[in-house]
Amino acid sequence: MNDFPPCPTCHSQLTYEDGDVYVCPECGHEWSRQATVPTETPGKIFRDAAGNVLQDGDTVTVIKDLKLKGSAGVIKMGTKVKNIRLVDSDHDIDCKIDGFGAMSLKSEFVKKA
Ligand SMILES: [Zn+2]
Repeated sequence: MNDFPPCPTCHSQLTYEDGDVYVCPECGHEWSRQATVPTETPGKIFRDAAGNVLQDGDTVTVIKDLKLKGSAGVIKMGTKVKNIRLVDSDHDIDCKIDGFGAMSLKSEFVKKA
């Protein structure tokens, strides 16, 4: 008889204590005694202009003409941007645009394609 928590992976009751961790002999899972329930800290959620959740690698479309700082170039509305990378900053999308190169965009000016 033991009062250890069941294995979170396979729900075996045969778990035992080993120092700071619980160990499941059936599937080999080990987990911390301090946090028997894994706490997931949710990362920042990035949303496009329409409220869709964006993820790394998404393709988005620019929804308005964007003037480029320090150049005469304009990224036209409707430009497709492939393989975006999300970063936690003011301009939260890192990307590469054909003809322009690497740059940062704001998620509020794009829509998931
Ligand atoms: Zn197990």
